[in-house]
Amino acid sequence: MAVRLVQRPGPAASLVIRGARVLDPLAGIDEVRDLVVRDGVIGGDPDGLEVVEAEGRLVVPGFVDPHVHLRTPGREDLEDIATGTRAAAAGGFVTIVAMPNTSPVVDTAAVLGALLERGEQEAAVRVGFLAAITVGQEGRELTEQAELAELGAVGFSDDGHPVADAEVMRRALQYQRITGLPLVLHEEDPSLSGRGVAHEGAVASRLGLQGIPSISESVAVARDAALAEYEGGWIHICHVSASETVEEIRRARARGVRVTGEASPHHLTLTDEAIASLDPARHKMNPPLREESDRLALVAALADGTIDCVATDHAPHDADEKEVPFEEAPFGITGLETAFAVCNTHLVETGALPLATLVRRMGADAAGVLGLPAPSLADGAVADVALIDPAARVVVGHEPFQSKSRNSAWLGEELRGRVELTIAGGRIAWRR
Ligand SMILES: [Zn+2]
Repeated sequence: MAVRLVQRPGPAASLVIRGARVLDPLAGIDEVRDLVVRDGVIGGDPDGLEVVEAEGRLVVPGFVDPHVHLRTPGREDLEDIATGTRAAAAGGFVTIVAMPNTSPVVDTAAVLGALLERGEQEAAVRVGFLAAITVGQEGRELTEQAELAELGAVGFSDDGHPVADAEVMRRALQYQRITGLPLVLHEEDPSLSGRGVAHEGAVASRLGLQGIPSISESVAVARDAALAEYEGGWIHICHVSASETVEEIRRARARGVRVTGEASPHHLTLTDEAIASLDPARHKMNPPLREESDRLALVAALADGTIDCVATDHAPHDADEKEVPFEEAPFGITGLETAFAVCNTHLVETGALPLATLVRRMGADAAGVLGLPAPSLADGAVADVALIDPAARVVVGHEPFQSKSRNSAWLGEELRGRVELTIAGGRIAWRR
């Protein structure tokens, strides 16, 4: 069984990026020099190749996003494979993994097969697909996991919904012995979340909004870590938002449980104070933005590796559907095009996170959580490269989004960092 990452065909890139800071923390590279890409591969003879002058720029292994919503099939008005992967390329991503909570849900070989075919024709960067853990993501009956794995699913997720029933989760973990693929978990106890729309705390109380408590997430993680320990399974925790959850992951790791975690740019940089805007297009997401103590715990966990990677949870929505009272709007914001600039501006430039750590957490470590190959700038590697001007000032939304949707938390905000060129799978996927 082999995971399938698909991308549309195109000519192999051949060029020399001249005089940039070449930074690949995993390969131990950090120096100002030229980077040669010949026939889609790193290294080789620079003679006769196009030269891209890149003084003052940064060259890093392209980013990997394990958590993206492409809204296909079913809501191509919000995003499709072509626009979602173009947004990814514009953000410096070379590989993205799409969530299966589409319409229909990716819970059969027929739906997954059709997506892989479309990806082969339309995807600007490599794209892989998760299949649902349960039929219809209803939490009752497991999907045909062996068959979906055979076809090339990256793993299994009911993202958007938790797997509320512990026995169903236990059986999904038992299936891992056959598929060997990760369970990618949206962690939430529905009985605790209730009809909440924002973090349960002082801000929600002040605004009169129903709260989602932090423990809704952390008790679910505690349960699944215990089940994974019992069954010897492999779990990855989506969009960690609360300090209690960080502690649960730490405790589980210390016991030897195979558990990884991701945090989104918004949870790493914003708090529930932001929802005072009462603008659901910008600030309504699930899990919700939490308190400063949670944010600081996430940043510390990303720095020390308890949180393995950044994942955007890119969630395109229509402006009309978001132009309703906060309580009624759908959850989620876009993230692919702004992820690096947000983290660079609010984490690296503030001194909270070294640049090299961010590059690892958005690249090799993000690939690792789903067992995907890490992008590398080492000689002989397939070219997966992002060329970035880290000092460029960008006002979000001033240039058109590549995504079909523009429900960004940072709309109108000035960020530092612009992706100028992305080479994905040896092909030029984005060029400003
Ligand atoms: Zn999601």
